[in-house]
Amino acid sequence: MLWVAIIGLVMTAVAVTVAGRRVLFLYRLATSGQPAPERIAYARENVGAEIRAQLVEVFGQKKLLKWTPSGTAHFFVMWAFFILATVYLEAYGALIQGAVTGKPDFHIPLVGTWAVLGFLQDFIAVAALIGLIAFAAIRIARSPKKLGRESRFSGSHLGGAWLVLFMIFNVIWTMFLFRGAAVNTGNFPYKSGAFASDLVAKILPTSEALENVGLLLHIGVMLVFLVIVVNSKHLHIFTAPMNVLFSRRPDGLGAAQEMRSNGKVLDFEEADPDVDVFGRGKIEDTTWKGFLDFYTCTECGRCQSQCPAWNTDKPLSPKMLILDQRDHAFKVAPYLMMSEEQRAHQGEDVLALLEKPLVGEDGVIHPDVLWSCTNCGACVEQCPVDIEHIDHILDMRRYQVMIESSFPSEAGVMLKNLENKGNPWGMSEMKRAEWIEELDFEVPLIDEKMPEDVEYLFWVGCAGALEDRAKKTTKAVAELLHIAGVKFGVLGPMEACTGDPARRLGMEFLFNMLAQQNIETLNEAGVKKIVATCPHCFNTLANEYPQLGGHYEVVHHTQLLSHLVEEGRLTPITPIEEKITYHDPCFLGRHNKVYSQPRDIMAKVPGVQTQEMHRCKDRGFCCGAGGARMWMEERIGKRINTERVEEALTTDPDTVSTACPFCLVMLGDAINEKKNSGLAKESVEVVDVAQLLIKSVKGV
Ligand code: SF4
Ligand code: SF4
Repeated sequence: MLWVAIIGLVMTAVAVTVAGRRVLFLYRLATSGQPAPERIAYARENVGAEIRAQLVEVFGQKKLLKWTPSGTAHFFVMWAFFILATVYLEAYGALIQGAVTGKPDFHIPLVGTWAVLGFLQDFIAVAALIGLIAFAAIRIARSPKKLGRESRFSGSHLGGAWLVLFMIFNVIWTMFLFRGAAVNTGNFPYKSGAFASDLVAKILPTSEALENVGLLLHIGVMLVFLVIVVNSKHLHIFTAPMNVLFSRRPDGLGAAQEMRSNGKVLDFEEADPDVDVFGRGKIEDTTWKGFLDFYTCTECGRCQSQCPAWNTDKPLSPKMLILDQRDHAFKVAPYLMMSEEQRAHQGEDVLALLEKPLVGEDGVIHPDVLWSCTNCGACVEQCPVDIEHIDHILDMRRYQVMIESSFPSEAGVMLKNLENKGNPWGMSEMKRAEWIEELDFEVPLIDEKMPEDVEYLFWVGCAGALEDRAKKTTKAVAELLHIAGVKFGVLGPMEACTGDPARRLGMEFLFNMLAQQNIETLNEAGVKKIVATCPHCFNTLANEYPQLGGHYEVVHHTQLLSHLVEEGRLTPITPIEEKITYHDPCFLGRHNKVYSQPRDIMAKVPGVQTQEMHRCKDRGFCCGAGGARMWMEERIGKRINTERVEEALTTDPDTVSTACPFCLVMLGDAINEKKNSGLAKESVEVVDVAQLLIKSVKGV
């Protein structure tokens, strides 16, 4: 029928024009930001990894399926979008064929009459319908009205989400109306397989008019949906594959992103504050990848639900951090895209909006939000569309620290100490080797070249060398390596902080200084293999020093020790009859995926009975020290270490084990508080797994 085709094609032209204008606007807004050529270069050079990521994350929905009920529902709804595209192909085919021949009995060439395709289309539509019911049930059960801050949807645009569920529902029922009517008129391409369409046909009258109405409704709903999608959070339907394509591999964890200005890594010796961008002070300092993150957020709140800051009543929600920037970007978008001359003719209110700082008491992001982050990576790990929250946070911190000199004052002491003494406590570098005197064997100090027979450089770290509790781990590791016959040496006073706390605070300049100094020392000594006890040092040495030309084979002590146990070079023989719960350090677990080795070590110690905490491994809960938070006061909400220790105590442990000097201190402090208030057994201890191992190996 000609009139049906005319209506269908006019509707399509209008909707595509409206949606196209929006897409153009989004493209212009994103590209008005900073360039990010490294993202394109990486994707181009790693085609295999990118294809794998698309298959696993986009088509396989790997991250979403970790959240079983909602993940399964999303899996079916997402696949419905792909498979039901064939129904739309048939709908447009019928529209055209009906106009040309008068009989809309179109089928897709080659496969269009296969019962399998007909079945698949009906099956996925029914599965998506069930998925919608599951989504609705989850949204009602986990509604912010009911659960308040505990709801992962708290802060999300709830009306928009319901509208989209309603639109998907409309797509499905109009599809069955169109197909059921086509069955009755004999225009349906499938003789069998399309079980649900055949069922619907039974309750519909035979009517060409009904078929035409069904066809136009089905197309119309899709077109309205298209316009809604490009104007809503459901934009992720189109942007999620792109965001996955351009995200860092294997993920946005591990190394902090290098500091770039105008697409190039910033060279501090040549940097010019008038020309270069130092982190992110205004929304236009965001790269197009940052804008793509804004467009892609589905507002699912998985990041928020895992964030230790949010879970201890701090104002930081990683979801809202993205959404607040997105909302601001949309608000200023028309002006961002103006020429300087056009801007000059704007009123004061517009100029004020354009000048609104990204971070500040009256800014888009409150400073308390920015400084609450521990860089634990739980948000990045959980985000199903690969949004890189830590990159956003670090860029904003860089601007605050280096341009505004605005950061929690306590952290200033740490920066000064790093600059003057090479450690956060400001202690003399000569103290770095004092722990060696407490051992009954020699540890070579590497002052120039690594001797031929020394295999590993033991990177002790500031805490490991200077903090009393962490020193116990250092000595245990040294003893274990000695017993296993591993030749190692240390830098002693030649070692300086890796720069991790400076970098995570946003003081990239100081990080560069310390890193270059250490890399020079390591390269001059000819170091090839490093073992580190601190996950922050481990992460920096392994993942960040290559950015500055330092390439080493770096292992964490739990990796090396578990290997030595496996090889039989260390034999835990003395039973330790204790119930132990292990706390995953974020920079060892989530940032570097070392989950099994610390557990393997404990499993080899006779008598140890391990008990996992509810939040463990990739969903482990931070101790509160990362992201330079170790050096800041925790004034808002509940202390993160208290929350973690309370969780540990629910397992009724004799010992809490970990594998990080900072976790050791944070959890130790919280346990002591609990002991003082009578809420924990006096005997509960916090120890490193190396301490457990040496106890069993030596029998002391
Ligand atoms: S890194 Fe951790 S603390 Fe920071 S926003 Fe993400 S989940 Fe929250
Ligand atoms: S950032 Fe990712 S995890 Fe967080 S709400 Fe958005 S899509 Fe969900």
